[in-house]
Amino acid sequence: MLRAKQVEKNPDAICTQLVHPNYVAPEGFSGVQPGQFSASTVFFRSAQAYRERNWCSGEGYIYGSHGTPTTFALESRISALEGVQYCLLYPSGLNAIAQVFLALLKPGDELLVPINVYPAVRMLVLHELVPMGIGCRLYDPTNLESLLFARNTKLIWVEAACSITFEFPDVEAIAARAKESGVVVGLDNTWGAGIALDAYGFGIDISVQALTKYPCGSADVIMGSVTTQDRELYTLLQMCRMRFGVSVSARDASVVLSGMNTLRLRYEAHDSATRKIVEWANHRREFHRVLHPTAPDAVGQNIWLQHCSAAAGLFSVVFKPEYNTGYVDKFIDSLRLFRIGVSWGGPVSLVLSFDRNVASVTELPGVLVRFCIGLEDVDDLITDLEQALFTASQQ
Ligand SMILES: *Cc1c(COP(=O)(O)O)cnc(C)c1O
Repeated sequence: MLRAKQVEKNPDAICTQLVHPNYVAPEGFSGVQPGQFSASTVFFRSAQAYRERNWCSGEGYIYGSHGTPTTFALESRISALEGVQYCLLYPSGLNAIAQVFLALLKPGDELLVPINVYPAVRMLVLHELVPMGIGCRLYDPTNLESLLFARNTKLIWVEAACSITFEFPDVEAIAARAKESGVVVGLDNTWGAGIALDAYGFGIDISVQALTKYPCGSADVIMGSVTTQDRELYTLLQMCRMRFGVSVSARDASVVLSGMNTLRLRYEAHDSATRKIVEWANHRREFHRVLHPTAPDAVGQNIWLQHCSAAAGLFSVVFKPEYNTGYVDKFIDSLRLFRIGVSWGGPVSLVLSFDRNVASVTELPGVLVRFCIGLEDVDDLITDLEQALFTASQQ
């Protein structure tokens, strides 16, 4: 075994000795987690090894932003989760989406985006892509008759389900139509998390996840991933990521790696608790409508049944018009277990009201409130909702 050699203490040499240590850790360390490898610089064995470095191979180490054992380990786990070969990490889910757009679209190309897309993506398209000369057209994901591809349509963006109103689009039919026209299909797969929906089985080309949500699971990291089975798309994305200087930290990748161990179990717990609460909500007189794939009249319910094995941990309610914003605010402020906050996928249940301009294909005659179900006891959550509705009704 290699041990540190005893060095003569020499005050003049100490600066050099401190940065060129003799100690080499013994080989063979192995644990549940691959460890946090943090680096900007990584060393090459020889001048020739450096000359032969290959940014595209996805193997070997070149620079911290290119990949470390920690980030490669996470990429390989996300690839396995989605059942494809290639994965790239990004500092946020939104950045992953932006990088897909930047890698694939050039001025003059057209992008199709669903009307009810994640609001930040709508802003990205409107304020960044359109000024670059990239055409963007909205389509109704629940009405495929309206889906038209132009000569310059390059990419169609799909969300399944949509993140505020949970309509479920026919991913398979959209992908089939896109294929006929040679259009690339990109899916925001954050909701399904690689668990509820076998996305590549339905013909998509690229899947993006906000790892921020279920894969992390502890609400303390922001990260995104892009996967694909297409070598050419992978290379395009990889080069774009490198040229824009995009990378993730080892600490953050390490947290998500821990989350991956329990992803499936947590997802199932969120899913079953949410179905139970949706069942409760269906019977409350305050709600005009409950928005979740299992709720009565859910838009795309049959498609969800054909595509999915689960339904994540989110739902919304639309209050009847007689319950005004004051009432809804009092309801939200009276909740004790549900905290007010954006994002989802963590252990704590969350609530948010969306009273203005939710872009939706579902009619919304009253205030919309979205719930994200955490890992608390489901009966405690229902009791909390009941007491808050009661408190709000007291003048
Ligand atoms: C959260 C979310 C994103 C963005 O992910 P960030 O990591 O927060 O940037 C994108 N799409 C969906 C559906 C999301 O829920």
